Amino acid sequence: MKIQNRISLIFTVLTAGIILSLSVFIYIFASDSISRSFFHRLEVRSNIVGHAALEKNKSQTSIYYDFKEKHLGDLPYEQHQIIWKNEIHKADSLRKRFPMPQSFYDAIVRKQPARFFKNDTSYVGLGIIQSGENVIVLSSAVDLYGREEMENLKNLLIIGFFISLIFVFTFGKFFSIQIFQPIRQIIRNVKGISAHNLNQRLKVSTSKDEITDLSKTFNDMLDRLEITFEIQNNFVSNASHEFKTPLTIISGEAQLGLSIDDIPEIAKDSLRTIFRESEKLEHLTNSMLSLAQTGFDGKKEQWDEIRIDELILSVKGTADQIMPDNKVEINFDQLPEDEEKLVVNGNETLLKAAFTNIVLNSCKYSDNKPVHVLIKAGETYVIIEITDEGIGIPDREIAQIFVPFFRASNTEKYQGYGIGLPLTNNIIKLHLGSIVVNSEVGVGTRFTVYLPFK
Ligand code: ADP
Repeated sequence: MKIQNRISLIFTVLTAGIILSLSVFIYIFASDSISRSFFHRLEVRSNIVGHAALEKNKSQTSIYYDFKEKHLGDLPYEQHQIIWKNEIHKADSLRKRFPMPQSFYDAIVRKQPARFFKNDTSYVGLGIIQSGENVIVLSSAVDLYGREEMENLKNLLIIGFFISLIFVFTFGKFFSIQIFQPIRQIIRNVKGISAHNLNQRLKVSTSKDEITDLSKTFNDMLDRLEITFEIQNNFVSNASHEFKTPLTIISGEAQLGLSIDDIPEIAKDSLRTIFRESEKLEHLTNSMLSLAQTGFDGKKEQWDEIRIDELILSVKGTADQIMPDNKVEINFDQLPEDEEKLVVNGNETLLKAAFTNIVLNSCKYSDNKPVHVLIKAGETYVIIEITDEGIGIPDREIAQIFVPFFRASNTEKYQGYGIGLPLTNNIIKLHLGSIVVNSEVGVGTRFTVYLPFK
């Protein structure tokens, strides 16, 4: 889960916890306050009923009830039981009838407020003394109004809880998106930096926050990486350059030797081998040089308009020099009528190296069986198919053939270094193209290269 979502979720859960606790607190507090006020109202009525019962002058009794009726009114299901001193047996039977605990009666005896609540009914008990006489009044009523109030409050709190959750989650998400905006920007910028544009740097804002620190750290790292790449690249370039001259001299000398007629055939054979092997080495050094250049900054190379059919013909020429027994056939049958569809923008040396690698591999890994090269055009791409009838590539290894120095497990008997295809892939990517490989062990391999028209 993205940190951004995790933060808004944690924020929501925390806030939900706080709102829930607050709602429970409000509910309990309100319920307690409503119930206390109802007990109080019941006690007032109970008091009046007790005093009315103790009133000696019976004509006065009705005054109490009138007062109660007029000014206080009846509570729902209001009931009063008066227990006289001499009616203890009645108290016992009442005790059996009503669900009050012993502590309730003890409180009456101690002249403390006795209150009890069960099954929506509130009970109070009062001991009343008047002119030396005393009675106990047990009163009960149901707080219908309070119950309704509590129900409303509960609904209000539940609805409020869910509405606030939606708000908190939405705002939490909004704020976390805002907070992570600079980080997303950095990710986008870093993704755009590759070996080809290592000189690019992230924008550093003026504020002194962690994001600025992060950008600076990335930039420092890029500085170090660029220097390391440059050193490595220079080393490979210089080494390849240094190899080139002696190799040219060796192959030149071998050719010169071959042109002399009166030397023994065995010596000519040696010279031929020297010539062939030095050509291979030259191709290898050129590949390493190109790999270093394309891997670091392909823009160093010069770009022109290149006709792919001509390029493939010159690739065939090179293949003929390196592997004279090759059976490469170029099929021009499907060439597009519009010649523009054969022209790509690119670097000739690099593209030639790329196609030479594929073609030479096809000859090598098929022991010089026929290799078919087909050129055709798609909607926006010129397509070059190179098909051989060679050893093929094991299924699970196809994905790795573009990794530098990787060689498939079925190539022991063939010489190679594993740098040709990585270079080819780099070059084709540099030209905004792509390569698709189809292969079956023992049947053959097809490389399909797509290059965008000019
Ligand atoms: P190598 O010098 O080993 O040929 P490459 O980089 O040119 O190195 O190729 C990488 C690997 O891809 C090879 O070692 C081989 O296993 C596989 N491969 C490339 N082309 C072919 C092909 N036409 N047929 C079979 N395997 C191939």
